Amino acid sequence: MNPHLDPIGNLEGPGDAEFENTIRPSSLDDFSGQPGIIENLSIFIKAAQMRSESLDHVLFHGPPGLGKTTLSRIVAREMGVNIKETSGPVVEKPADLAGLLTSLEPNDVLFIDEIHRLSSVVEEYLYSAMEDFKIDIMIDSGANAKTIQINLHPFTLIGATTRSGLLTAPLLSRFAIKSRLEYYSNEVLERIVNRSAGIFNTKINPESAREIARRSRATPRIANGLLKRVRDFAQVLGNGNITLEITKHALNALQVDEHGLDEMDNRILATIIDKFKGGPVGLGTIATAIGEEAGTIEDVYEPFLIQEGFLQRTLRGREVTARAYEHLGRKPIKSPDNLLF
Ligand code: ADP
Repeated sequence: MNPHLDPIGNLEGPGDAEFENTIRPSSLDDFSGQPGIIENLSIFIKAAQMRSESLDHVLFHGPPGLGKTTLSRIVAREMGVNIKETSGPVVEKPADLAGLLTSLEPNDVLFIDEIHRLSSVVEEYLYSAMEDFKIDIMIDSGANAKTIQINLHPFTLIGATTRSGLLTAPLLSRFAIKSRLEYYSNEVLERIVNRSAGIFNTKINPESAREIARRSRATPRIANGLLKRVRDFAQVLGNGNITLEITKHALNALQVDEHGLDEMDNRILATIIDKFKGGPVGLGTIATAIGEEAGTIEDVYEPFLIQEGFLQRTLRGREVTARAYEHLGRKPIKSPDNLLF
């Protein structure tokens, strides 16, 4: 187990939020990867600007650390409007939502992170706000209770979620633009690492940037987090320049996996191998054995493990591949003929 990794595999440390904001791209041109999303967004933004209208509501979904918050801020900036940021669990009551919505200027962006965690009462109030830019608010209670309707300025709601499967159909249908962020290729991550190193005036050679990219779980937030730690090692053990030797030393010292898998990825694979003979085993059974929600495994961890060829979905459940046995140094119990090579 790696003590430095949080549950979604990010390296955490003091000052990381500040570090993250310094290296966050602030324009569409600055944002690497996700070419399809960027191309569409730039067209929709230009069209909305030409009509002097608010941009349609946008939903960004996909695993953590792929750039949902970053893109939301970029959209507001490119539209030339303000952004108010909140998150699903924070908006507890309809009055909280009304407060946020009435504070928006025309065409502003309201960003709701973890939108799948909005309470159903608040969500219902959001429907008319999104559709007609109106919100009905109940004032007083009991015999004096009455509803007043408040007209809102046109605004753009940007929702972000790792668990789009938990969104209700009425909410989903109110987002005209839905974009799923994909994992990043090593080449794009290498660009991101080089860009971040440049912002920090840290010299890094191409092999080191490639090594960090390769071991970052295809996720920019993890790549940046690793860069930050490697930079510490370079400063203390060397002359501040990041070399391949220092990079490998640092990543090993941090127990970063050769393939970039995090602690939970490895736990999922090891559990399927050790407790369920490599599968097939149902998602719910894996979730119980690990003590994690089935939906989180499905939306946050599994896509990467499948993409990288460690896990496959079959009609009878999840099954690890030969690559997973090899990676964890386990011997397959079944005949290797049954396993994917
Ligand atoms: P999410 O909201 O999806 O969890 P964030 O938008 O907070 O992810 O991104 C996490 C970190 O990764 C930020 O520090 C951001 O700078 C960086 N990042 C994400 N996507 C990119 C990208 N395409 N190019 C450069 N940096 C990125």
